Amino acid sequence: MAPSVDKSNGVTENGNSVKEMNSSSLIKDLIPEDEQSPVPGLDDPVRMTQNATTAHILTAKWTIAEGWAAPEIKRYGNIELPPTASVLHYATSCFEGMKAYRGFDNKLRLFRPWLNCARMRDSNERVSLPDFDPEELLKLISTFVATEGPRWLPDTGSTFYVRPAMVGSGSALGINRPGEALFFVFAALFPQSRPGTINPGIRLITSQPSQIRAWPGGFGNTKVGANYGPAMTAQVRARQNECSQTLWLFGDSNIVTEAGASNFFVIWRRSDNKALELVTCSDETGVILNGITRRSVLEIARERLGSQDVAKQVSGDLDALDVIERPFSIDEVVKAHQEERLIEAFVSGTAMFISPVSQIIHEDKFIDFPTTENEAGQKVTVSKYAKTIKLWLEDIIYGREEHPWAFVVDETRDDIAKKA
Ligand SMILES: *Cc1c(COP(=O)(O)O)cnc(C)c1O
Repeated sequence: MAPSVDKSNGVTENGNSVKEMNSSSLIKDLIPEDEQSPVPGLDDPVRMTQNATTAHILTAKWTIAEGWAAPEIKRYGNIELPPTASVLHYATSCFEGMKAYRGFDNKLRLFRPWLNCARMRDSNERVSLPDFDPEELLKLISTFVATEGPRWLPDTGSTFYVRPAMVGSGSALGINRPGEALFFVFAALFPQSRPGTINPGIRLITSQPSQIRAWPGGFGNTKVGANYGPAMTAQVRARQNECSQTLWLFGDSNIVTEAGASNFFVIWRRSDNKALELVTCSDETGVILNGITRRSVLEIARERLGSQDVAKQVSGDLDALDVIERPFSIDEVVKAHQEERLIEAFVSGTAMFISPVSQIIHEDKFIDFPTTENEAGQKVTVSKYAKTIKLWLEDIIYGREEHPWAFVVDETRDDIAKKA
């Protein structure tokens, strides 16, 4: 964990006082609505290109001598960096991924954004980028979301993807802690998955022994840019095999870690006592990114599906289960498949949300998860648990249920009330 932040003005090694990140010094240079591009419809193909954004970007510069300069919200556009910039050579970069959700009550929400801000401090620390007060970061992010929300999220159930990022931006080429950094936030317009719907099932392929994504003592447990570039050849291989993600294995015993940029869960019956278990790789291994969706799945499953509490909350036709975090191997999954003990698998993450897994390809084996027929007579992957957990989280995200995990964005400030 990053050390606690001293909110008074810090002092650098050479004795200068430096400024903390400060949301109240935010400068806004907003584009009039009639000069902004039209908002693409929910099915507009521009969303598939993944390079459509809202009209503005928030930026904040940091230097080792001065600290944080006043942040700005301005027209979205390119960022200038010197060719010697640290990030371009030494991967001094990290990012976060979160979504803003337009609720059924028309309010705009973020989901547990405190955890994103805390995680960004940890990622920053791993690559020697500057620290900040996480509360100030959240104020900046929520102000940005409040600025873009009224125009770009008009419809109930619509979302945009918010990408905060930090890069080492200074011009000194030496391999040193960056003396300058740039923080920025923008919002991307992705294809929309509608609340209440569930993916019919994705396919995964296990990684090859010649490649590992993360290792103990490495940085796979932080959201630093250096994790993602080297994983792209595996992603190409997954696509070639008509799979959507690589299921990353680790170590001699082939521990199942996570799937692409999402965490992986399996539900099976134990071979000895037939108990139902929801299992995911433990965070203590140091080889997974501890997703906020992952944590939420674990917490809500323990609360509402946990065996301890069978009577109270287990809904409809769902049996109670044990929620377990431990390293488990692909051989255990293969064996459960052979012995017909597999119930479901799903991945979790902000981008993919909760998506059932229909099949895992491992070496020359196909691990198929149980299927059923839907109302239209099509074969679909069983996803009773995934669907229920997803609905529970959506109830919070879209405001059907009041819950401390939801952060309501205040869109009522004067400067953005122009739409009314
Ligand atoms: C972002 C990410 C996840 C999912 O994290 P969430 O906080 O749930 O979005 C999982 N694995 C990796 C490698 C990631 O980068």
